[in-house]
Parts: sequence; structure tokens; C-alpha cells
Amino acid sequence: MWKPYRRAIETLQALILTCLPFLTINGQSALRFDIPTLKLYVFGSVIWIREFYLILGVVLFFLLFIAFVTVIFGRVWCGWLCPQTVLLDLSQSITKLFGEKKLKQIQIFLLIPLSALVSITMIWYFVPPAETLKTLFVSTTLTSFFIVLWMAVYLELAFLGRRFCTSICPYAMLQNALFDKDTLVIEYDVSRDATCMKCDECVRVCPVGIDIKNGLNSACIACAECIDACRVLSEKRGMPPFPNYKGRIVRPKTFWLGGATAFAGMILCMLLWNRPPVDFVVIRENALLPSGLNRYSYTIYNNGGRKVALELSSPDNVTLIGEHSLRLQPFSSKNGSILVKSTGRLERLHLNISGGGISINRETGFL
Ligand code: SF4
Ligand code: SF4
Repeated sequence: MWKPYRRAIETLQALILTCLPFLTINGQSALRFDIPTLKLYVFGSVIWIREFYLILGVVLFFLLFIAFVTVIFGRVWCGWLCPQTVLLDLSQSITKLFGEKKLKQIQIFLLIPLSALVSITMIWYFVPPAETLKTLFVSTTLTSFFIVLWMAVYLELAFLGRRFCTSICPYAMLQNALFDKDTLVIEYDVSRDATCMKCDECVRVCPVGIDIKNGLNSACIACAECIDACRVLSEKRGMPPFPNYKGRIVRPKTFWLGGATAFAGMILCMLLWNRPPVDFVVIRENALLPSGLNRYSYTIYNNGGRKVALELSSPDNVTLIGEHSLRLQPFSSKNGSILVKSTGRLERLHLNISGGGISINRETGFL
């Protein structure tokens, strides 16, 4: 029976997604996109919006991962892991605890608090949980956003539900384009059609309402409910279920597509965790200033999870007018500007930040 495994995986997925925002590494959420500062906290590291190559790397990795999972395992994501499937399945299981009557009405009612939990969890991936709970119903923006999200999630789950999978889900359309003849699918064994009892148990349990006996259907989410239903009856007759998983998992494509995905993941991790702990960007401002005087704006990025104290200096024969001692909190950036005065002739200026084992030099023009 596939159902106990599917429920275990679904419960685990729901627990991980709900609890992950509470996990902090170096004082910051393990995984969160901070909208005001446009930075992504990712398991003890931070990606700034200016680090576009890393964002592209993340996108490329996920595209390869989706292609790998879909080509080899078909719609296993839809039937076993998609948050919509998980929520509908879990709410259905809870509904059954209330008895056998008015299941649909109870589920629709149960989805109200469940949608609220889903909506607040989604917000936690942008605003830390403690801050959300403090400002919810205080901040008008957050409250309005939460209510709109709650309504949207509730209406989608309660009234569109599985029809979303079969009609507008873009991932489902993409999957159908990626399938090949060996992809894992659920198929009815036509060669044994004469012995099928035509009891239609498989049709009755199908969450998307299809009849697998009519052949492969693009709406099938590979949830295996029909296999379990058929198995109950077939095993009594000493035969395997008529619908079953069919496909070839171990084949050349598994290795090259899986290898490419693993390689992209490794490169991404190396790029992410081997970056310098601090980065320093300097730009000369085009301000009209007396001769021998230039203004520079700079940004210092602290990529690490510890505080840093840095000194701004120049090895050139110049005077720096402005703040020299700079302190940065973990995963923070600091913008500033400094006036540079030179009494002699100077074409290139060198600016340096150093402290706590860090030393970074930048070269820029001087007029
Ligand atoms: S549940 Fe099995 S035996 Fe019954 S109709 Fe479906 S495939 Fe045939
Ligand atoms: S046909 Fe079977 S595997 Fe496909 S969606 Fe229906 S119950 Fe799930």
C-alpha cells in the first residue's frame, strides 16, 4: 500500500515547511527573503540582490532539478509533495476523524484555519515569525496582505482544489512536455483487461476524477490512490493491482541529468560559501568640488554571521575626511561617503578597508 508512505511524506513536508522559518542560523532565518533590504538569507549565508550571478545560479539549479525529477519520476511531485496535494490530503484525513457524513462541508470549514496557517507560514518566509506575530493586526500593510492571502489560499483550496492541477497549473503543463517513454507513470495493465472486475473503485478514489482504465491521462497526478484501491480487491483474487507504476528509473538519462543537477548544486554551494566574508564597492561621485578634492561613495557588505570592525584608509599620500571606523552587524551592509584631499598630483586612488583579519583594496580614478 502506498498511502501510509504518502501520508508520512506529506506530514513530514508540512512540518518542515511550517517549522523552517523558526530555524535561525547566525541570528537570522535559515531561509528568508528580506524585502526592505532585498537580500536572501540562505542557511547561514546571505545573497544580495546585486549578486545576480548567484540568483541565476539558483534558478539554473532549480530548472535542472525540476527537469531531472520530472523526466525520471514523472508527476511524483504533484502526487506526493505539492503543497496543494498535501493540504487537501491532510485536511481530508482530519475530516474523516469527524465521521463519514457531510465530509465535503466539514473539509470546507476545516480549510478556513488551515488556510490561515498556510498564509502566515508564507509570510514567515519574508518577515521573521516573531516580528510577524508582533506586528500582525498592528501594521495595516501586513494585516491587509495576510487577509488577502488567506482569502486567496482558502478560495483556491476550497473551491478550485484539484481542478487547478488539471487546468491551469503551469508546472503540470511543463511536466507533460518533459515526459519520455521511460518516465515513471501510473498505467493500467491493458493486457489483463479481461480479468478486471470493472468495479470502478479506482475511479471512485481518484482525486482528479479520471478513469485510468481509459489509458494514460495527462491529468493524472500519480498519487497511487487507484493502485491502493485496486490492490485491496485484486489481492483477494491473488493477482497484482491493474493500475501500477510503470517506467525505467535506472537509465543513462538518470545519470547525466542527475549528474548535471548535482554538479550545478555543488558549484552553487562553492560560489555561495567560498565568497569573501566582506565585500567593498567604491564609486567616485561626479560632484563639483575644488581641485584636489574628490568625493567617493562606498558600500561595504558583510556576508558573514559575525560583527566586523573595519578601518578605512589609503596607502596614497592623501587625507581622508569623513568616518574612518566602520562597524557592521552580521549580514548587513553599510553605505557611506568620504572626501579625499590630495596636495600632490594623483591619477589613481587606492582605498583600503581592514580589520579582524580582513583587508580589501580597491582602486579608482582621482581627478
Ligand atoms: S479497481 Fe481494479 S478491478 Fe476495479 S475497475 Fe479499477 S482496475 Fe478494475
Ligand atoms: S489515476 Fe490513479 S494515480 Fe492518477 S490521479 Fe487518479 S488515483 Fe491518482
